[in-house]
Amino acid sequence: MLYFIKHNTIHTYPVAKGCAAVREQEQLRDTVPYEVQECPYCMKVWPGKKEE
Ligand SMILES: [Zn+2]
Repeated sequence: MLYFIKHNTIHTYPVAKGCAAVREQEQLRDTVPYEVQECPYCMKVWPGKKEE
């Protein structure tokens, strides 16, 4: 999974359905730094999709 940070919020790349963020020049990365906000669309684990 790749991620990018926009306006101090981390999104997956490509973004999740419902996410309005558009990656432009943001660098792609494969780790999630803990000091950023998480996009609720990209980063949320939806009920029922959670692995157990
Ligand atoms: Zn997002």
